[in-house]
Amino acid sequence: MEKLLNFINGEYCEPINGKFIDNYEPATGKVYSLIPDSDANDVEKAVEAAEKAFPVWSSMSIEERSAILVRLSEGIERRMDEFVAAESKDNGKPVTLAAHVDIPRAVSNFHFFATAILHYASESHYMEGVGVNYTLRKPIGIVGCISPWNLPLYLFSWKIAPALAAGNCVIAKPSEITPYTAYLLGKVAQEAGMPAGVLNILHGLGGSVGDAIVKHPKIKAISFTGGTKTGEYIARTAAPMFKKLSLELGGKNPNIIFADCDFDEMLKTTMRSSFANQGQICLCGSRIFVERSLYAKFKEAFVEKVSRSIVSNPKDPKANLGAVVSKPHMEKVLSYVELAKEEGGTVLTGGERVILDGEYKEGYYLRPTVIEGLDYTCRTNQEEIFGPVVTITPFDTEEEVLKMANSTQYGLAATLWTSDLQRAHRMADQLHSGIVWINAWLVRDLRTPFGGVKASGVGREGGWEALRFFTEPKNVFIKY
Ligand code: NDP
Repeated sequence: MEKLLNFINGEYCEPINGKFIDNYEPATGKVYSLIPDSDANDVEKAVEAAEKAFPVWSSMSIEERSAILVRLSEGIERRMDEFVAAESKDNGKPVTLAAHVDIPRAVSNFHFFATAILHYASESHYMEGVGVNYTLRKPIGIVGCISPWNLPLYLFSWKIAPALAAGNCVIAKPSEITPYTAYLLGKVAQEAGMPAGVLNILHGLGGSVGDAIVKHPKIKAISFTGGTKTGEYIARTAAPMFKKLSLELGGKNPNIIFADCDFDEMLKTTMRSSFANQGQICLCGSRIFVERSLYAKFKEAFVEKVSRSIVSNPKDPKANLGAVVSKPHMEKVLSYVELAKEEGGTVLTGGERVILDGEYKEGYYLRPTVIEGLDYTCRTNQEEIFGPVVTITPFDTEEEVLKMANSTQYGLAATLWTSDLQRAHRMADQLHSGIVWINAWLVRDLRTPFGGVKASGVGREGGWEALRFFTEPKNVFIKY
């Protein structure tokens, strides 16, 4: 069985304790590789390597650093097929999705930050007749990047690309559930000429190696994407150590549909915003609110389309949905369907596991599910399910839908469908969320701030926001 390895000081190596854990293929439910069960000793080894590398990396000219990161981005692109196949196998997502979204986005992330630093300028503040302030932006030192399983390489690169570009050395941990593409990245870093110790990738469980990263006194900043509960724990642990923190956490996003929308465009996009990546994107709109005059038409068309979705093995080019990421996650999603029924909801389509044939019969497949008849305050409508399950709810007025949309502890993203420009601006202003899409979903400009409010997180990623996070400002004043 293939053994994945840690990448420390520019080399692949076994975990110091020699222990490995199973890595499952969601499409078949079978173990297909082993990954290091790393712990605090591996973190220590990586920190030592990063400490040695930091003076070299942080003082390298911007052009040189940029060139290495561009080569890294090109290296992933050259190995596109290998990365796409690995991401799909590890996560269960359709190959077509990995090929069109995950891996190209990871390439773009590296390229974006590799070139952004060429144009990055810091501020200066002139004081008439007194002097001038200028602000230096220095790399922090060694930073920790911890990412989840839903968009494995994409979200991994979203953190480590700006961290490296800003001149930091990185200790990174992908989710133990989807380690493969992060493992491959080590080879690409070697080929790109990344100096040893600049990028260190450790595999293992959140509670051991993840925790050791968060607690290590020499790791000065933590960029974390994952669940709200884990984020809360990380904040509690890292804040007393005065570490910089960026937390991108859960969501329970509203998708608000007014009767004056472009119906066909809305329906097509709502299919994606509900079920792309088996509903396992933090930006998916899992609470769909529809203006009452459109409700019956929407319900009929949506349920019909959803029930025709093809759930198949990830290699099937016709698959609309592949497997969800793990058996425990599949069980969690199904438990929410049961909860919805107990809370008085009606399952209009889906709500069950799909058993495929042959080698895929043990895979974790779920039929996309639409539920109606639930109060907006019930648990199904308040808690993050993170799977192919959406609820639909009618509304009468803007005030009413705003109250329902803003009622959860989360505030990551919201989608709004209307052709009334004034209403679009009015609603966007009043929605409690970090991102609002109007007549669109998941359109991402890499320069824009990304992140949520309330329990969806603290801080922003993307563009200059990320480069600011990964640098410390130092103001210098010179008197005339
Ligand atoms: P988790 O919070 O379980 O895990 C995220 C990462 O943190 C994993 O690498 C995990 O390791 C690690 N981890 C777990 N416990 C600790 C710990 N005590 N100390 C340090 N690291 C730890 O999230 P999931 O992987 O289940 O991802 C799904 C969640 O991510 C959803 O809530 C989703 O909304 C959110 N998400 C948010 C996004 C955003 O941008 N706001 C984007 C994408 C997802 P391990 O896997 O080994 O447990």
